Amino acid sequence: MIRTESIHIPFTYAAGGTSSIFLAALRDEARILATPCPACDTVICPARSSCPACGGPTATPVDVGPAGTLVSWTELADGTTLALVRLDGADTSLVHRLAGGDGTWVAGQRLRARFGESRTGAITDIVGFESENGAGR
Ligand SMILES: [Zn+2]
Repeated sequence: MIRTESIHIPFTYAAGGTSSIFLAALRDEARILATPCPACDTVICPARSSCPACGGPTATPVDVGPAGTLVSWTELADGTTLALVRLDGADTSLVHRLAGGDGTWVAGQRLRARFGESRTGAITDIVGFESENGAGR
């Protein structure tokens, strides 16, 4: 006999040293941090303790953004639009929501992070990315 069900298992885990620094900067200062890799010169956002390109340890976090460029996007069934945003100063793209505008997006479009008024130390402290030029594009 096979039963198909879903179970909900809440859990808590430590974010880790570098991710904690990243999340605290979002919460306390509305800053977005990345970590440079001294071995391959890749600037990784969100900040990580190791480089996804070469595996080496990263250096002290640096500020990137809050503006960046729309790389790609997709619309989910619930109407949410998720995007890859390459923040100014970063070599990797951050996955986040697109917000506002008329739903017209263009690769290469300039975006800016909009932070929430009440921040908790989560990636959702960034409400989303909006067009730098106002509505739409
Ligand atoms: Zn590297």
